[in-house]
Amino acid sequence: MNTNKDTINGLKVIEWEFAETPRSTPTSRRYYEEVIKVLLEDNSEVFACIWQGCEFTRESASGVWPHLKVHKRKDKKASAASPVNVSDLSVSELIGRAQQAETYRSERDVAVRELQKASKELAEWKPRAKAAEKQIQTIRSAFSAVA
Ligand SMILES: [Zn+2]
Repeated sequence: MNTNKDTINGLKVIEWEFAETPRSTPTSRRYYEEVIKVLLEDNSEVFACIWQGCEFTRESASGVWPHLKVHKRKDKKASAASPVNVSDLSVSELIGRAQQAETYRSERDVAVRELQKASKELAEWKPRAKAAEKQIQTIRSAFSAVA
């Protein structure tokens, strides 16, 4: 990842910072991980892709964001498949999601345990049911022998 772009569009980079996402607020700042806001020597501002050797710029950060998937494709498929930009989530959101996942997991564990218990009981009852069936047959044939 390149954070020391010297020039963009032939203009010298004066300074740069990570670009804020549309969800960023004055009280809760959020930044793109791979989109930077660049101040150029002619005092103009552009938003640029942070990847090394990439010259992609747009007038807005949200214009650069869709471009980033070009680089993801070269990465592991898993990261490309991830629909959530984790860097766009606040810490509390991340914790919330983790807790939610944990809740789903424990609910699933309870369901699995109940299923295991039920099938274990079924296994215990099967021989008893078979034995009862046999007894009934014995009683039936005893009756039919009498009749
Ligand atoms: Zn790029």
